[in-house]
Amino acid sequence: MELKIGWLYPNLMSTYGDRGNVICLQRRCQWRKIEVSIVRLDRLADASQFDLVDLIVGGGAQDRQQEIVMRDLQGAKAEAFKKKIESGTPGVFTCGSPQLLGKYYEPALGQRIEGLGLLDLYSKHPGLDAKRCIGNLVFELTASKIARELSANLNSKPIAIGFENHGGRTYLGDVEPLGRVIKGYGNNGEDGTEGAFYCNAIATYSHGPLLPKNPFIADWLIQTALQEKYRESISLSKLEDSLASSARKAMLQRLELAS
Ligand code: GLN
Repeated sequence: MELKIGWLYPNLMSTYGDRGNVICLQRRCQWRKIEVSIVRLDRLADASQFDLVDLIVGGGAQDRQQEIVMRDLQGAKAEAFKKKIESGTPGVFTCGSPQLLGKYYEPALGQRIEGLGLLDLYSKHPGLDAKRCIGNLVFELTASKIARELSANLNSKPIAIGFENHGGRTYLGDVEPLGRVIKGYGNNGEDGTEGAFYCNAIATYSHGPLLPKNPFIADWLIQTALQEKYRESISLSKLEDSLASSARKAMLQRLELAS
């Protein structure tokens, strides 16, 4: 088996260490002898590269870089990207990326950045004087499909631990939140929602990077990508995750959330 991981604008959208999500997926495939390659979906890529990939990762960025990305992610590339997501290709999109998958993002300075309109949400930065949403983030994944599948794998509620750093606030329309905030700001620090979930796309404010801290989400992405690609039910071999489990336990204790 093999997987092609598409990486959205690596040079522009990895300001907050989300390349760790790509590395985590790559290693968790290699440890299982799943052949894996990385396809850079950047300004040099054309729509055909989007058609090639089985899983897509998008990281976070500063307002300025987001504007540069959106100038490029237009036309055939944008259509190819939307078609992939709506055909069930899984993806994990962090912070600046989901802001661009929505209707629009109004940055602190400059013009509104029109988004892809793939997710029914919009984001607005309340201005340079507003407090940034920065800190540890803990949330329960509640979006029906992924929560059901993760709970079955984990035999418990899926709780994600991450770190957020954003000025923009996101407001959901007719799209499922990814989860319910337990600690931190989430989408906007007001309505208790975190991220969004659409088809098999995870949108989240959680850096961390998210996947090494929550390996069960990485495995959900790999399993879903393989099932979508090979059109058969796939179960992944278990990996030795004691380091991640101890890190999670330490974080939950530090945040006084340990049960
Ligand atoms: N520039 C966006 C904001 O400040 C996204 C930040 C990020 O990707 N961490 O909200």
